[in-house]
Amino acid sequence: MDNTPVIGVLALQGDVREHLIALAAADAVARPVRRPEELAEVDALVIPGGESTTMSKLAVLFGMLEPLRERVRGGMPVYGTCAGMIMLADKLLDGREDQETLGGIDMIVRRNAFGRQNESFEASIDFAGIDGGPVEGVFIRAPWVESVGAEVRVLATYDGHTVAVRQGNVLATSFHPELTGDDRVHAYFVDMVRTGL
Ligand code: GLN
Repeated sequence: MDNTPVIGVLALQGDVREHLIALAAADAVARPVRRPEELAEVDALVIPGGESTTMSKLAVLFGMLEPLRERVRGGMPVYGTCAGMIMLADKLLDGREDQETLGGIDMIVRRNAFGRQNESFEASIDFAGIDGGPVEGVFIRAPWVESVGAEVRVLATYDGHTVAVRQGNVLATSFHPELTGDDRVHAYFVDMVRTGL
């Protein structure tokens, strides 16, 4: 069996290109996904950083909201960074009233949680399951995870706040590994996808 997974990057808005590059570096076939037909052709999906309210609006506009929810419910592996983490939250705090999420992780995420104190910063993050030392976390108006359900594994914290989680096939980080040139978190996700294929 060809064990190279095809991983889409949701390309409605956000830092799509950086994820495509990081996924390719982690030995996946990576392609942008904008339409339901494109979503149907990938094994897994990355939801990039950007602006979750805009992403939510565009997902509705492009007819992607229900197809995305369906694939997530169906067990497709997904990785969301920052705005992508927000999209994967079952519950959201400080979202806009009309803001939709896909859900997928039994967690409550607070939008812009770090942003109010500190617009943007970097920190070394110990990431459970990733060897070779801490990963560099780039936080940009980042959310944090306020609480998680019993099925959710916390993979990393920063300053007492949960910043990386995994539930089954669904992974989310508050920060942006795609902006650092360190592809270990993407490699971790590609491994998750490969193991499930
Ligand atoms: N604060 C943004 C939002 O609410 C997320 C920021 C980011 O993705 N870097 O969507």
